[in-house]
Amino acid sequence: SRLRQVAILGATGSIGTSALDVIARHPQQMRASVLAAGSNVDALLALCQQHRPDHAAIADPALFSRLRDGLNDAGLATQAHAGHAAIDALAASDHADTVIAAIVGAAGLSSTLAAARAGKRLLLANKESLVLAGELLTREAATAGAEIIPIDSEHNAIFQCLRSRDARLEAGVRRIILTASGGPFRGRSRAELEAVTVAQAVAHPKWSMGPKISVDSATLMNKGLEVIEAHHLFNVPGSRIDVLVHPQSLVHSLVEFIDGSTLAQLGLPDMRTTLAVGLGWPQRIESGVGGLDLLSQGRLDFEAPDMDAFPCLRLAWQAMEAGGSAPAILNAANEVAVSAFLQGRIGFLSIPALVEHTLSTLPYVAADTLDALLAADAQARHITETAIVRLPNV
Ligand code: NDP
Ligand code: MG
Repeated sequence: SRLRQVAILGATGSIGTSALDVIARHPQQMRASVLAAGSNVDALLALCQQHRPDHAAIADPALFSRLRDGLNDAGLATQAHAGHAAIDALAASDHADTVIAAIVGAAGLSSTLAAARAGKRLLLANKESLVLAGELLTREAATAGAEIIPIDSEHNAIFQCLRSRDARLEAGVRRIILTASGGPFRGRSRAELEAVTVAQAVAHPKWSMGPKISVDSATLMNKGLEVIEAHHLFNVPGSRIDVLVHPQSLVHSLVEFIDGSTLAQLGLPDMRTTLAVGLGWPQRIESGVGGLDLLSQGRLDFEAPDMDAFPCLRLAWQAMEAGGSAPAILNAANEVAVSAFLQGRIGFLSIPALVEHTLSTLPYVAADTLDALLAADAQARHITETAIVRLPNV
């Protein structure tokens, strides 16, 4: 049968390279046909040499000739593209039947939406697109018959625990329980978080991930974004979603049913497992990840999240309950604050402070169109940037 053609958007990142690792293990079933990245031309060229896609795209249009010349110099037949519109077009094109959405942040929304509208199998890692435009994205995917397979480990676990792939159709689901590692600062008080450094914040105890999601894990905003993500993916209200801190990161999430059964998915913390679930579904395929040795792990611990030390989780919950443009505002403020933190411009505790400031400054509007959501996103970025410039302690 025909090879599955896979487009990897965000190919140079943590998820992108894990996906390429899994794909390369199955040359008889699948190949990487499209690779896209943001601005790292050298890394993209190296991946093209290794995986020989038909198309390669770089988001920064100024880098087009460097990509094209690099492909030519390497003697590759890979066609060069540049700009966001080119990435969107490739995501929707016949060059791929499966699209891995692994661009970080709201920058991934337009290509994720393009793939959904084109009816692709969508392996969705880019959670920010669901936070920003969850209703729109899931509606467009349903209309076009695009199958969304969550790659985020918690949602992938829930997906594996459901028979219907859609909590909407599964009447017997009582609640969804998302697990959280607690990040590098689990157990610390608010005062102890004051002086933490960037290096400490990105050193996640269990997962190796890109810098943005690593900081989100440290603030617990990641879990907040995931609550909103679960709400949209599985169409469950916030009142039926719980968060449980589980420091070993082996139980990736759980689903409780009305008969008292609880199903969970367990595995080592390695994203190649969830990517293999998405790439092979409904078949199981090799991922390169070994099984779990529960005997040597010894124990599984669970505790409640500390919403006082980590207010981002509470803020995300509030934004979800408020609805409309509030989640878009939350996400944009967080992206700006995290990037300022990574640049050393603000301290760790300024991240929740800035998100809270922007959420309380901007009015929430009904947001059922892409334009309204993108306008809220842009306004929130502006307000957060302005507040950073005015911060007294930076
Ligand atoms: P990385 O920072 O490692 O990679 C980000 C990727 O996005 C890179 O390929 C980067 O390209 C590309 N990119 C950045 N900006 C743009 C842009 N404007 N246009 C096109 N491409 C762009 O991130 P991760 O792989 O860690 O995360 C990717 C997504 O997956 C995030 O949404 C994250 O929340 C989600 N996710 C990640 C997990 C993980 O384990 N890493 C787990 C669960 C979810 P370049 O290299 O050129 O900058
Ligand atoms: Mg996750």
